[in-house]
Formats: sequence, structure tokens, C-alpha cells
Amino acid sequence: MARKTIGLVAHDDKKDDMVAFARDNRERLAGFDLVGTGTTSGRVAAGTGLAIHALKSGPLGGDAQLGAMIAEGRLDALIFFIDPLSALPHDVDVKALTRLATLYDIPVAYNKSTAQAILGAL
Ligand code: PGA
Repeated sequence: MARKTIGLVAHDDKKDDMVAFARDNRERLAGFDLVGTGTTSGRVAAGTGLAIHALKSGPLGGDAQLGAMIAEGRLDALIFFIDPLSALPHDVDVKALTRLATLYDIPVAYNKSTAQAILGAL
């Protein structure tokens, strides 16, 4: 069976949470192909040693690249730690990415507990 691909994105105030999540689930995540927005990928790779393909930084097109992967059927799940407490400077990217994930019906996690559940289910 082909390996599944998971996309990782975290807003700035959620990047520590993403690294902690990836550390806690390192073994499991190592069984997937990982791809993520630029800064998130760098932080996760540095914090866990996991191999992760880095796209452009989210605001510079990385979110759109993940959206394109979803549209092309190349992303099996998305872990997207959105900052719920700040106004989002590139809100249009968030909307576009969440819209495509909904449209193509891929599993999406916006927080740790859902991400955990998705990892268990995949
Ligand atoms: P980043 O992008 O990982 O490059 O910071 C995240 C985002 O979309 O805000």
C-alpha cells in the first residue's frame, strides 16, 4: 500500500504546539510522507528529526501549494493548527485551504486532540 501524505501547517503562536505534537507522535508520523509550509516544516524537522518536505512559507504561497495538492488528490490529511486568538493577517489563505479540504473531503485537524484521532484512524 502506498504511503499516505499528511500536510502540516501551524500559525506562529501555534508552532510550539505543532512541534510538541510531532514529538509526541514521532513514531507514527514517521510512517507517513510529510509535507508542510516553510516555517512550520523547518521547526518540525529541527524539533523531531522527521523528514518533511518544505513548501513555501504559508503567506508566500505555501498554503496555496497545499490546497493544490488537495485538489490533485495528493494529500490524505491536513493538520492545521490555526491560532484562535489572533486576527489572521492572511485570512484568505486559511479560507481557501479549509474550503478545499472540505470540498475534497479530506480529514482535517485544527487542534491536537483531532490530529491525534486522525493519526489513529489513518
Ligand atoms: P509557515 O506558514 O509555516 O511558513 O509560517 C504558516 C501559515 O500559513 O501561516
